[in-house]
Parts: sequence; C-alpha cells; structure tokens
Amino acid sequence: MSAIVEIGIIESRFTEPADPFVMRKEESLIHIHPEFAEGLYDIESNGYLQIIFNFHRAREVRLKGQWYYGGEKGVFACRSPKRPSAIGLTTVELLERNGSTLRVRGLDAIDGTPVLDIKPYIPEVDRAVLDQEVHAFTVQEPRAQIQRMLGMKDLKGLLTEAGALHGHYCPGLSSGVLASFYGLRRLSEHLGLSISALQHADGLEELLAVTEINSCFLDGIQYVSGCTFGNNGLIYRDLGKTAVTFCRRDGKGIRVAARPDAFGIYDRLDPQFSRLFTSVVIDHDRSDPLLKAFRASAAKVGFALLEIPQEELFTFTPVTMGLPDYAAMDSSSICRHCGESVMTHKMVSGSCLSCAQAAYEVLDGSGIHTQERTQ
Ligand SMILES: [Zn+2]
Ligand SMILES: [Zn+2]
Repeated sequence: MSAIVEIGIIESRFTEPADPFVMRKEESLIHIHPEFAEGLYDIESNGYLQIIFNFHRAREVRLKGQWYYGGEKGVFACRSPKRPSAIGLTTVELLERNGSTLRVRGLDAIDGTPVLDIKPYIPEVDRAVLDQEVHAFTVQEPRAQIQRMLGMKDLKGLLTEAGALHGHYCPGLSSGVLASFYGLRRLSEHLGLSISALQHADGLEELLAVTEINSCFLDGIQYVSGCTFGNNGLIYRDLGKTAVTFCRRDGKGIRVAARPDAFGIYDRLDPQFSRLFTSVVIDHDRSDPLLKAFRASAAKVGFALLEIPQEELFTFTPVTMGLPDYAAMDSSSICRHCGESVMTHKMVSGSCLSCAQAAYEVLDGSGIHTQERTQ
C-alpha cells in the first residue's frame, strides 16, 4: 500500500458521536496542516466536497450488525464506523475558505477527527450515480425519511410532510401527528423495540393503528404511523372519539385519547380560532377573507400545538385488544351482469352488490352507515 497520511484536523461542537442526521445540520471547521495548504488552491470553485476521514476512536470491527434504519447489514453495505479500514466519507457543503481552514456544513465527524483526503464533489461525475442510489434506497426503505424524523423528534418536519397528504394544516392533523409520535414512542418502550423495528417487523401489517374517528386527526395517524386503509394496517372502530390505539398483531398496545379540553388549548394558541371555527365550520360562512383567516389561524394553531406538553393533550393507556387476523387474500369473480371483477365474498348469487341493488356499507364524514339500495 502507498501512503495514507493525516492532512488536517476537524473542529466540531460534537465531542462525542451523535445522531449523524443531527450532526449533518451543523457547521464544522477543517484545519489543513501547513505543509498541505498549497493543495487547497482553487478549492473555492467547488460548492461541495467529499471529506475522507479516519474513525480515530473506533477500536472494534463488526462485519455484520444492526442497521441505523432497522434490520441487519454487512459493514460494506452501511456506513458503520466499525470497519476493517477505519475510513469515513461524507459529502459536505463548502461555505468558506479562510487561509488553510475550511468552513463546511454537513460533516458527521466528531471534534479532533483526522482528515485523510479531500476531493471535489463533481455533479457531472458523481450525481447520476447518486440519483440511482437514492432511488434504490427509497425503493428499499420508502419510509426512511419519516423514520428519521421520528428518531430525531422532528415534529415540525413530520407535520409539514403530513400536510402534503392532508391538504391543509390544522389542529386536528397536528393532534394526529402528535398522538402517533408519542404513542409510537410509548409502544416502543412498552415492547422494548426500536420505533423502526416496530414498523419493520418480519412481515407486512405488523404494526396496527385502531382509530376511533375519521377526521383530520386520522391523516396525521396514517402519515406518521404508516398504518393506512390501503395497507390494511388501519382498523376503523366507528366510535366518534378522537382516539387511536397503536398495537402489534398480538393486540398489545397503547391507546392515545385526546383530552376533552382541546379547544381551550387552541384558543390559548390563537384567540381568534374559536370564533373563526364557529363562523366557517359551524355556520358555513365560506366568504373568501373569512376562509383565508380561518386557514391561517388553523395552521398557526397546528404548528404551535407541537410545543404543548403531551400530558396536556392526551391520556395514554396500555391495553390488550382483540384483533382480526391478517386480511385474507380473497379470490375474485366476474359479475354476471356488469362483467366487472369483484371480491367473491362481496357477491350475492353471482352478482356484484351494485347490480343486485343490495344494501352495502358506506364510510363517510359521519361514520359507517348502510346504503339501502344502489342508486
Ligand atoms: Zn384538517
Ligand atoms: Zn355488477
């Protein structure tokens, strides 16, 4: 092997290893040793750099171990510091060069880390590959970003993203995000499993959310917990209460119920909220300025709610629930009237319920009810 030398030292506010995603939000300094300073010539023409450093505190090599996102990985399939060659590599943003010191953002290395090399990040060379990697990673771990925000207690990030599903920001959505965040944390402590392991068990449908309402609250539950109607991880009990139970298939779980004085809290966060809610939601006044003011107030309360202590918002109760088995993969048949494919157990004498003009169940804003005849 040819030479590997220390070309500089990292100065960071982190003196001990921390969550890499927390570390990557911070700025650090890289002090290049004087004998190598000439090598920095024209480095400012790069927006991003790849920093190669030594995991100088790592003493252990582990060829296979627990992965950050759950499950196991080989050392060459992850970024663990416990490697045969104790080398770390991180792409950082170059903010400023001051003599032989570089100010960068995004470096997940602790204070005193020896730097071995610096290379420019060149989009034309590196990016196409990275895009493929990002895609491959997303396919493997579609909820990685949400897991990360859960792990970092990034409530603002979770609510911001949940808004993409829900369509607006409101205290209900925010309550669903908070109920999921605190409920899943408590369930993970209760069962002695990490949050990612909770959602990431051996099969599908391991984590369930049993909701007692379908409202704004429910979209916060679906987004953060990943339990949805579509993946059968969501069970609906038509009770009309702002409450949800997170549990595993064996029924062991935590019920999270909203305290009854929610509106008192909303009004404390924005004194306009109740008045606007009454005008728009109760009295159906949807005039433009009023609606805008209501949306702004709902968003303000929604985000401010993230700061309220969990005990003021919810009660948490450990429970054991009786649960249905995995959703059966039912066969489907063809309706003899309309020729469309129908789940067989939804048919009556060879017809779909629509063609048979039979009653069926509807779930809408007022809960579950029976639709007597097909229109
Ligand atoms: Zn809403
Ligand atoms: Zn039919």
